[in-house]
Amino acid sequence: MQRWKRWLLIALAAVFVIGGAFIIWKSDERVDVVLDPGHGDHDAGAVNGDRLEKDDNLALALATAEELKQIGVNVLLTRDDDHFLSLEKRCRLANRRHAQLFVSLHRNSAEGAKGVEIWIGSENDPASRALAQAILDGLDAAGISKNRGVKTGYAQGVGDYYVNKHTRMPSCLVELGFITSDEDNALYDAHLADYAAAIAQAIRAQLPKEETSTEEL
Ligand SMILES: [Zn+2]
Repeated sequence: MQRWKRWLLIALAAVFVIGGAFIIWKSDERVDVVLDPGHGDHDAGAVNGDRLEKDDNLALALATAEELKQIGVNVLLTRDDDHFLSLEKRCRLANRRHAQLFVSLHRNSAEGAKGVEIWIGSENDPASRALAQAILDGLDAAGISKNRGVKTGYAQGVGDYYVNKHTRMPSCLVELGFITSDEDNALYDAHLADYAAAIAQAIRAQLPKEETSTEEL
């Protein structure tokens, strides 16, 4: 074999080994929370003129992820740009990575309505309720137009939100104000950083406590 070919093979093998090890290492990293900015790309979500829910969700998710990193919480985003992801893929990502918590970020839509509500699955899992309540309390303290409470099930009929039903960890879906309300939109813009900090703090407080190894005692 020509010398250059041998070197090429060695270089390729090294790339595969190092790349593979990196992928295994990354996928082994503990995920505390999966943050899920709702919608994306052709799926704009709720709309009010030029204002698209998908953009609001992403802006808040990115700010919240920054806050989480700063307080030592390992966060994984289902999307960090404007691309589309099926609900199934969002859940599969969280389940495959064995995330401790799952929080989906959305904005509501209904003429004449205002305020913040958070949805959990209809089985009313206590850890999901605690997570939702902690986030809602934090947002309320940061400044919202109305506290509409933690709700179970699905706003548009029977059943559950897909992401609450199909994730295997405590989860909730935040409807952070109505995009159809000028008051809620003004609050959203003025308090984006406060909302991000409040959500991040609530998530950290709701993470399962690390088990103390007996060897350390
Ligand atoms: Zn939505």
